[in-house]
Amino acid sequence: MTSTNHGFATRAIHAGQEADPTTGAVVTPIYATSTYLQDGVGQMRNGYEYSRTKNPTRLALEECVAALEGGRHGFAFASGMAAEDTLLRAVCKPGDHVVIPDDAYGGSFRLFDKVTSRWGLTYTPAAVSDVESIRNAINENTKIVWIETPTNPLLNIADIAAISEVAHNAGALLLVDNTFASSYLQQPLSSGADAVVHSTTKYMGGHSDVVGGCLVVNDDALADELAFYSNSVGAVAGPFDAWLTLRGAKTLAVRMERHCDNAERICEWLNSRDEVSTVLYPGLESHPGHEIAAKQMRRFGGMVSFRMRDGEQAALKVCENTSVFTLGESLGGVESLIEHPGRMTHASAAGSPLEVPSDLVRVSVGIEDVDDLIADLAQAFS
Ligand SMILES: *Cc1c(COP(=O)(O)O)cnc(C)c1O
Repeated sequence: MTSTNHGFATRAIHAGQEADPTTGAVVTPIYATSTYLQDGVGQMRNGYEYSRTKNPTRLALEECVAALEGGRHGFAFASGMAAEDTLLRAVCKPGDHVVIPDDAYGGSFRLFDKVTSRWGLTYTPAAVSDVESIRNAINENTKIVWIETPTNPLLNIADIAAISEVAHNAGALLLVDNTFASSYLQQPLSSGADAVVHSTTKYMGGHSDVVGGCLVVNDDALADELAFYSNSVGAVAGPFDAWLTLRGAKTLAVRMERHCDNAERICEWLNSRDEVSTVLYPGLESHPGHEIAAKQMRRFGGMVSFRMRDGEQAALKVCENTSVFTLGESLGGVESLIEHPGRMTHASAAGSPLEVPSDLVRVSVGIEDVDDLIADLAQAFS
């Protein structure tokens, strides 16, 4: 048994993952079953009735992610978007209002703008690095203040504790999308957040081989609402996906240390290059959010963005000329990825206030040998 007294890496490997009670299997089995034997009418074993409601492999992942966030209740979903949708509809009703980041993850923005809006939920974008901007966006119907930190792709930092105070004073909940930092680097519930969401597709799974999402909360009544909504709608993680995610989560601590080591070295190298006008990384003292990041994060993560002095063509050239960095979207896997946000992940923001600079390159720094990564960037620059 693990407890909240155990360190992060111990919880990642053991929380929710006691040896299987039937066989002693050390690794949680993939319980590929939809239904369960009842010992008499309505007499379930350990509460297992039907796998949309509860499945042992999913439960192991749910207990693990809750332990990693230092929270009481975890829920695992088929994707990060399914987790977000579940939270919104479990907490809000038509007519309610949500404050969202003005540089929100594109899929989240689409959910607010095109899906929950049709159902009567309104939203106001605000700059998460500016507490006043959040305060001004709140109105009397605001149910949730929704933030990401660091943000994508500009790596802006939100002050979780300060924003939680503003949200709570207005009677709203604070949700933090913790995908970019990972649970290892940042645990928002301890800074006052009410709910944490992850795309476990990214660092939690960590191997770019599974799509998933999770929610973690402390409040029992909120957890009951989420359990009710999750069971009613059923966008839950399947047992194989839950197992793969759990397998990835076991190594989250060691992977994140290496992601951070490599990202720091790459920032140093980028800063030494004349072709680069700005390096965006919260670990740099020059970053406007550095002090807040240092207060609420263990280290500064594996995501780095930079701007090329010679503009868009130079940025595109770097993206297309790497060979160890793979040109592709997504992030958080063991392999390094490179992309051009303006034409790829953030193309849909073109012409809007959320448009990103065209000279911007984003890298998800993997855990390969950092000298190979730097040599790869160097040849792509030349
Ligand atoms: C990828 C991502 C999501 C969406 O998660 P999916 O697993 O792709 O559904 C949400 N938020 C952030 C910050 C992400 O990077």
